[in-house]
Amino acid sequence: MTNSQPIIDLQNVAVGYNGTDVLDNVQFQLDSGSFTFITGKSGAGKTTLLSMLYLIKKPSKGILKVFGQNINFSNRDTLAQMRQRIGVVFQDFRLLESMSVYDNIALPLRVRGMNEKEIYRRVVELLQWVELHKSINKQCSTLSGGEKQRVAIARAVINRPDILFADEPTGSVDSEIANKLMRLFVELNKVGTTVIIATHNEQLTSSYNYQRIDLRDGSARLYPALQHI
Ligand code: ADP
Repeated sequence: MTNSQPIIDLQNVAVGYNGTDVLDNVQFQLDSGSFTFITGKSGAGKTTLLSMLYLIKKPSKGILKVFGQNINFSNRDTLAQMRQRIGVVFQDFRLLESMSVYDNIALPLRVRGMNEKEIYRRVVELLQWVELHKSINKQCSTLSGGEKQRVAIARAVINRPDILFADEPTGSVDSEIANKLMRLFVELNKVGTTVIIATHNEQLTSSYNYQRIDLRDGSARLYPALQHI
């Protein structure tokens, strides 16, 4: 893929549930390596938009291209392969609660058939990064909300995805941890991951000068990052 081609491209897209569109006429392109906030009030359609970009929901109208591929013409196997290049942090974490921190984060690598020694090396490295290495053997059900969030982030990035989606990733943590998590996303972005974060936290978005897609009244509008002269 060339860098000039957008990694995500929406042309006149509509998406919704049971024949009723939540968003309509959505049109934007995201460059590979960009950092984007998706903003809007609760119920504006942020999770719906992310579900479509993560390829678990199809547009009801228009063209959606991810990694340059039109998803309307992609079969189930192709979509599954594309999803392997995407990491997601869900709002409700979706961890396997009865399993350990280690096993939750190792899961995507085990699915890929990586050897256990390399898996261990990677998981430990990442746990140090999210400052959870002391909890490696803890069962997930015993963790606090903020700790679970960090496990979910570690699991989402262990595969070194090309795109990372996070739905309200600072929702269950205090502002100190929220800033720490944001720094992780910024670091990931610096090494080339395209990062897309849905949030209704205006304090968060105003603290970082990144482009923003604002959802309002069923429409999406892109506001570029401020240019420093
Ligand atoms: P946000 O993430 O911005 O809070 P959502 O994408 O969750 O917004 O919701 C957008 C709209 O879609 C809301 O009106 C919500 O009630 C509706 N919605 C969300 N999920 C479903 C669903 N599974 N079935 C029907 N309507 C839904």
